Amino acid sequence: MSIRLYNTLTRRKEEFLPLDPRNVRMYVCGPTVYDYAHIGNARPVIVFDVLFRLLRHAFGAPYVTYVRNITDVDDKINARAAEMAAAQGVSVEAARADLTAKTAAQFEADVAALGCLSPTLSPRATQHIADMVAMIEALIAAGHAYAAEGHVLYDVASKPDYGKLAKRSPDEMMAGARVEVAPYKRGPMDFVLWKPSDDTQPGWDSPWGRGRPGWHIECSAMGGRLLGESFDIHGGGVDLTFPHHENEIAQSEGAHGGHAPARYWLHNGFLQVEGEKMSKSLGNFLTINELLKDWPGEALRFNMLKTHYRQPLDWTVKDLRVAVKTLDSWYKLIGDVEARPENAGAYFLSYKLSDTLADDLNIPAAMPQFHYMAAVLSEKTPAEAELAEFKTAANFLGLLTHTASDWFAAKKQAVSLDEGDIRQAIEARNAARKAKDFAEADRIRDELLAKGIVLKDSPKETTWEVKR
Ligand code: AMP
Ligand code: ZN
Repeated sequence: MSIRLYNTLTRRKEEFLPLDPRNVRMYVCGPTVYDYAHIGNARPVIVFDVLFRLLRHAFGAPYVTYVRNITDVDDKINARAAEMAAAQGVSVEAARADLTAKTAAQFEADVAALGCLSPTLSPRATQHIADMVAMIEALIAAGHAYAAEGHVLYDVASKPDYGKLAKRSPDEMMAGARVEVAPYKRGPMDFVLWKPSDDTQPGWDSPWGRGRPGWHIECSAMGGRLLGESFDIHGGGVDLTFPHHENEIAQSEGAHGGHAPARYWLHNGFLQVEGEKMSKSLGNFLTINELLKDWPGEALRFNMLKTHYRQPLDWTVKDLRVAVKTLDSWYKLIGDVEARPENAGAYFLSYKLSDTLADDLNIPAAMPQFHYMAAVLSEKTPAEAELAEFKTAANFLGLLTHTASDWFAAKKQAVSLDEGDIRQAIEARNAARKAKDFAEADRIRDELLAKGIVLKDSPKETTWEVKR
């Protein structure tokens, strides 16, 4: 199977050739854990989950290692931990440990509900401080970094090909890196590898005094330790291309005698909400956790997969409703049939998934095949094997992983009204219709609709279903 991936480093789609097919390695930048993850953060998690599944299919599950880190030391975390420490009368370090453990557990539960497999390894940055210190020492020894006033900085001038991933002019890089002016810096673009901590900030002993790592060195050290100096794929959102990934390349090549950390750099496009940039100030900030209260995780996943991963994605309620409707119809079709993972390879091929996914994860191109097969199967009395095949192929994308019974039961449960209330409202509406009080009947219908309940009238009876 030939997989082609768009490599940001070369700006081309290239055939994916692992360094060692018996040890395929991928690193994806994970979340900084100080608050609930938003739906934009879910995009790289889902996209690289599909790539992980594809690599496991192509090379064999035991031969693929996927590392997604947790950034649990960072100045945004420290600021939140300091507030918590003041409010709770505990040390900042205790507050940091508590905040990051809870937020990381929440993140892992959220993305599991989106149908993502666990990565092979989920290292915490704080477990690798010694690796970071060692890497910084190697950079100083190689002439790529210097210590100044308790800080250690990367000397960008020491790396003439700095900027090879971003491919931006020095002016654009200066603007993009939001360069901090500091008297101890030799060059304006030099970035922090280590910085001093005061007594109120989390810190670790180091040759440069008590301090903490910069963000970029965290990923370089974790990737190098867990996957080796050179591995295959490095991924993240497009915003990480510069400066984060550019700096990772500079650090890893600087410390490892010029060996590139990854051969393929993959970046997902950004997600916006109802046509606007998601932001707390606009009030359109959607956490995964909140969305999961209103929508099934599989519908969120389906909605994420509808757009090619490199394109911008517009997240809308309208599309979410379509996602639920489509999944409803597919669950109605397959019922409680079991998937046949032992035949996944064959089904994978028959649904043309291999061609489309292997072409730079072109999931949107695979979708028409599912719609077509659903239409074909709906028009006849399908054999159980055909339904199992449909389910198995969808399972490959992390969809149709429930039974229809569980799917529809969960939907009914998610409605804020209980079944008795709905029945009572239907009876009251029937009574109003009998009395020709159509205004009251419509009012009851609209009130239920506002709560997500759609009534269906037939000559015999009125039934209901969940709208979403
Ligand atoms: P952060 O916690 O901000 O470092 O982000 C974690 C991951 O989510 C990174 O790979 C980001 O590129 C990605 N990300 C953040 N916001 C969005 C967004 N709106 N759309 C797509 N990816 C995003
Ligand atoms: Zn990273």
